[in-house]
Amino acid sequence: MNILLLGSGGRECAFAWKMSQSALCSKLFIAPGNAGTGNYGKNVNINPNDFEAVKAFALKEGIELLVVGPEEPLVNGIHDFFANDASLEHIPVIGPKKEGAILEGSKDFSKQFMERHGIPTAASKSFTNENLAEGLEYLSTHATPIVLKADGLAAGKGVLILDNVVEAQEELKLMLGGKFGNAGSTVVIEEFLTGIEISVFVLTDGKNYVILPEAKDYKRIGQGDTGLNTGGMGSVSPVPFANEAFMAQVKDEIIQPTIDGLLKDNIDYTGFIFFGLIKVGDKPYVIEYNCRMGDPETESVIPRMESDLVELFIACADKKLDTFNLVVSKKTAATIMLVAGGYPGEYEKGKAISGIENLRDSLAFHAGTNLEGGIVKTNGGRVLAITSLQDDQFNALQHATADAGRIYFDGKYFREDIGFDLM
Ligand code: ATP
Repeated sequence: MNILLLGSGGRECAFAWKMSQSALCSKLFIAPGNAGTGNYGKNVNINPNDFEAVKAFALKEGIELLVVGPEEPLVNGIHDFFANDASLEHIPVIGPKKEGAILEGSKDFSKQFMERHGIPTAASKSFTNENLAEGLEYLSTHATPIVLKADGLAAGKGVLILDNVVEAQEELKLMLGGKFGNAGSTVVIEEFLTGIEISVFVLTDGKNYVILPEAKDYKRIGQGDTGLNTGGMGSVSPVPFANEAFMAQVKDEIIQPTIDGLLKDNIDYTGFIFFGLIKVGDKPYVIEYNCRMGDPETESVIPRMESDLVELFIACADKKLDTFNLVVSKKTAATIMLVAGGYPGEYEKGKAISGIENLRDSLAFHAGTNLEGGIVKTNGGRVLAITSLQDDQFNALQHATADAGRIYFDGKYFREDIGFDLM
């Protein structure tokens, strides 16, 4: 089978690594990929949002399966584009159509979806410029902290957590005034939940689903989870507090009602659903839905998967996930992100990376890297995900951290406390 994978991050590198091990994978192409994905398939210089270019390539290379890594092409409708084109409709797409991707693409939509289907989430209300005065009034009696969320995609920057009402009112005006462009033309005001976060993933064919290993990610730049938010500084899977009783609640109160809700709303969904959850007391609540796998969670989840990933994708495309028996390793995977100095603020690219060949007990999934004249160089803020799979969490973290230290590039930074809160 010829497979085209869209994306260029650590998540796609982990997918490419795993898919390339499948006997079902004849040719693997990654668009655009990075220096790491090139080890597992052929990188092609195509922007995943240029659907016509993706189409031309898919037809030229006889692509038989399209796997979409990031959310943007999904929210922009790449699955619809394939389904509605007579020359492409035979190619199954892993990733929902626009009507499903809106679970991530619009926070207002996802809040209404959860309310409609009785899925536990923080209480909220949405406002636009039309009812700004009402929004300001609503905020005046709101408990603090107050969570303000731009409705649309804002590259992880559209969520503000504010400690006082006046500041929140000012921010509401700024957001509705265009601070986040169109993404903020509707703002969701949400109750603040106190608890510990966890990421749960399913792959669904619209009716059946497979629950993948859960993971915890670490968003802040600084040790002890302090400082600015990033795309993610590391992850751990499994998550010790996600015991059988907790996961049963997640399944019964969140996953099943979500799948049933999609069916009731006539949303035909093929692909990943990422449940961003928070455990408040013993109870799980949904913070957000995403229509793709998490990054850096994928880098911990995929190495624990013993089943064939291509087989899993085919079962999904054939709507036969009910017959798929996912085999998961009991080992712990820990991922540590190596990032460029200055990230998540300004940072430089083009720094030569050395030492990847010196890793002893870890995998290196490339994120922001490229190949220049045969040299692997930094090409983004998050550069490499170092994942170690070991018998227990302590060893996984110790080996990943030791191997993170074996890599060098100018300005390299990583957190040394990933997963410590779970031990
Ligand atoms: P990302 O792109 O990083 O996944 P996002 O921009 O889509 O995030 P959310 O996941 O909804 O936005 O929120 C970002 C973070 O803000 C959450 O991971 C969580 O830490 C915090 N947060 C969001 N909503 C709440 C809430 N109601 N109570 C407490 N914390 C919250």
